[in-house]
Amino acid sequence: MIFGDGGGQASSPKNHPDTFFPGGGYESTRAGVREASVRGTLVAASRCPVNALLKGAQARYPLSMEATLEQERKDEVAAVASPPDPGKVHAYHQAKRICHLAGIAQGIAYWGIWLALAGGLVAWLDQYLDARWLALLATAVVMHGGYHLVGLPLDYYSGFILERRYDLTNQTPGTWLVFQIKTWLVGTVIGGILLAGLYALLWYGGGLWSVWAWAGLMIFSVLLAKVFPLIILPLFYPAKPLERPTLIERLTTLASGAGMTITGIFNLELSKETKKANAMLAGLGSSRRVYLSDTLLEAFSDDQIAVVFAHELGHHIRGHIVKGIGLAAVATSLLVALLHWRLNPFAGTDAGQWTGAVAGLAQVSFILTVFPLIIGPATNAISRHFERQADADALRLTDNPAAFRGAFELLTTMNLEDPNPPRWEEIFFEDHPAISTRIAAADAYAARSGR
Ligand SMILES: [Zn+2]
Repeated sequence: MIFGDGGGQASSPKNHPDTFFPGGGYESTRAGVREASVRGTLVAASRCPVNALLKGAQARYPLSMEATLEQERKDEVAAVASPPDPGKVHAYHQAKRICHLAGIAQGIAYWGIWLALAGGLVAWLDQYLDARWLALLATAVVMHGGYHLVGLPLDYYSGFILERRYDLTNQTPGTWLVFQIKTWLVGTVIGGILLAGLYALLWYGGGLWSVWAWAGLMIFSVLLAKVFPLIILPLFYPAKPLERPTLIERLTTLASGAGMTITGIFNLELSKETKKANAMLAGLGSSRRVYLSDTLLEAFSDDQIAVVFAHELGHHIRGHIVKGIGLAAVATSLLVALLHWRLNPFAGTDAGQWTGAVAGLAQVSFILTVFPLIIGPATNAISRHFERQADADALRLTDNPAAFRGAFELLTTMNLEDPNPPRWEEIFFEDHPAISTRIAAADAYAARSGR
């Protein structure tokens, strides 16, 4: 992404759609679907720690009409480009920051309580159930269902009330809820597959169960990255091939100059949900696509869109997706080592001896909640490095630092971004550099190149 994904799905740093603009990182550790960024959107899907494992239309116009629209877009740009009131930006970010930290505290406390209570719950279930898979299902429903219910008020406040107060959302309470339910359903399917796989390996996988678990997680997350644009993304946002011939031609030329063949440039309809703009590169291999949000296409000039696109090309040129998968492999091995530590005593136990393993679900969930926080500083630092590289490529490929600066200023306005987040926030939660840093890079380029 050009702007944040909002998400430090720490266990798989770049193994997800990459977005151009930061979503602010607030939802990151809660891994919820963020409205503003598609990756954030989907990965966040779940506040559910199990899913933390995974961790991110134009009508057809004749050419003449496109020219008219282009002029209209420029006018709109002029209308929205006035910088937001710093006091408003500060107030919004303070509120989001408090919600974010409260969400983390709530998650840790919630799972901390289950660490103490899980044994009792499982002992109680043991009186009524003798099938371990049924016991696991019941435990997962109680624990994770409760997690979502407990988190709902905060999610609603942060994800809807605040967004509406600052005029950043196009959702109604009803559409917010529908979006949330879809997110839960997708999260439940993905989390359910992972959980079932984990316990199947624990119970039947033999002595090397955790090695298979690691391999399974890696394969699953690569497959998920592959099918994300084809299956998951359309559940949340409609996308259509971009239908602006002059822009397509310009972007295609830019891509071929960088040695990349574009398989598709799509217009992603974020506007039903949000006023924020974003862009991303998603998919792997033949499913690889560039998405530009309709909000971005409407507000940005072609020069600014070219900058955004060139940033995504930068990720491609540098092989950031493959490098991201390599990093995910390292992070996943750390995670699996922790799971092995807590669950291995229950490996290969008899079907009747399930209570310890099932109660261990609380430990698994606790680990999945704190793990992204622990490795966040490292994965975010690497991600910010990749983003700086992609920015440098965007400047080199377009040679238009003024458009680069303009794109970020516009984005700051549209998304009410904090150009200078506190350093601690950047370290722990931001996978994109601060906007002020990115604009400074453009100014340095301009000074060097005399543009
Ligand atoms: Zn990026």
